[in-house]
Amino acid sequence: MEERIVNVNEAIDEMIGIRFHELKHSGVRPVLRLSRDINPVLADPTQIQQVVDNLIRNAVDAIVESGVGDRIVIRTRMQDNWIVITFEDNGPGVVKENLHKIFDPFFTTKKVGKGTGLGLSVVYGIIQRHGGTVSYDERFNSGARFVIRLPVTPESS
Ligand code: ADP
Ligand code: MG
Repeated sequence: MEERIVNVNEAIDEMIGIRFHELKHSGVRPVLRLSRDINPVLADPTQIQQVVDNLIRNAVDAIVESGVGDRIVIRTRMQDNWIVITFEDNGPGVVKENLHKIFDPFFTTKKVGKGTGLGLSVVYGIIQRHGGTVSYDERFNSGARFVIRLPVTPESS
């Protein structure tokens, strides 16, 4: 795993730029609420991009498939020595009976050819390798909310 000084805000901005046309075409508005005083993290920049991309794409897929919702809100903030990144959309959310399966490899509710079911398991693995955590916020009930925590002082590797 490559390790560099990564500014999470920049990684998010960059990925929104890369997906700009797709978002526009799908009618999903990205809303960024990025804290100005986020510490840099030691991370693999490509992997962090992949995490952001997978979560954006899932939100878009859910909104487009269901016809419910029109935005994804991405926030960053510091909490002690953690960077907290939340991805929130106002789509249909994850149904309760699927909650325990969404991070499993190959679990998908999408039609054949539409989803591999690997996105969230890849996110999980990447965040774990960076000493962080990722979870789905079950208490959020107006769509889907994923919460990522990354340590600013990574464990020695
Ligand atoms: P895939 O996108 O290929 O289906 P993922 O691992 O990325 O695989 O996601 C697994 C499943 O989790 C999706 O098929 C969907 O049912 C659910 N899911 C993920 N993100 C969202 C979201 N933002 N809103 C609603 N459901 C979601
Ligand atoms: Mg996916």
